[in-house]
Amino acid sequence: MSAIVVVFDFDKTIVDCDSDNWVIDELGFTDLFNQLLPTMPWNSLMDRMMMELHSQGITIEEIEEVLKRIPIHPRVVPAIKAAHALGCDLRIVSDANTFFIETILTHLEIKDCFSEINTNPGYINEEGRLRILPYHGFNKPPHGLGLCPPNMCKGLIIERIQDSICVDESKRLIYVGDGAWDYCPNLRLKERDFVMPKKDFPVWDLICKDPLLVKAEIQEWSDGEDLERVLINLINRISKEEEEASQFISLDCNCGCVCVCVFCS
Ligand SMILES: [Mg+2]
Ligand SMILES: [Zn+2]
Repeated sequence: MSAIVVVFDFDKTIVDCDSDNWVIDELGFTDLFNQLLPTMPWNSLMDRMMMELHSQGITIEEIEEVLKRIPIHPRVVPAIKAAHALGCDLRIVSDANTFFIETILTHLEIKDCFSEINTNPGYINEEGRLRILPYHGFNKPPHGLGLCPPNMCKGLIIERIQDSICVDESKRLIYVGDGAWDYCPNLRLKERDFVMPKKDFPVWDLICKDPLLVKAEIQEWSDGEDLERVLINLINRISKEEEEASQFISLDCNCGCVCVCVFCS
């Protein structure tokens, strides 16, 4: 079992732009999108836009082709592969959708690096059009912070991840994100965890307003090269700390428990 769980946002964190905007803009539907945006939640609008695309004759294959050429910094894929090779448990928490994310990750050949993709369901229906649904459902009661969109609270997802890994107290979480919706999960992290906010992006601005509200250690980054450097340094640092801690316990423990000395075993 891996001691480090790295949670990535997707849009503007793994890929360089917002995948929803990228698809709409590249297929020439920006004006209609902007016209409808004030009238409904973003998630419902994306579902509506997929209906518009379908009725204008845009095929699933054309959407896939657009997704495959989404801009991504050349160091992001190596960073993800390196973190995976170092034994980290990698997960995604995103307000995009399963169809967009899986198409892009499969194309980049890194889908298998992730143990979990938490995002809005996206699937092709019997008419051959893409449906995009809310992650929680819109009638999920608000959790009081007023920070999150109606279809998804990333903080609740982080709580679920924390509950699922807390059987082992030695687990450390690293959260990498850029957007305002990454702030709620950042508030849930513990002292032993790390947040990696993208510098000068909304989550970084929110953290800077009152950094003491975030218990985890803050490590900013600004582009893919930076993300790779900061993330790999953190993973190496945590691994070293955990190794030292396990040696300390095994040498100095008088508690009567059955400790395994790392030098003898
Ligand atoms: Mg983002
Ligand atoms: Zn939330």
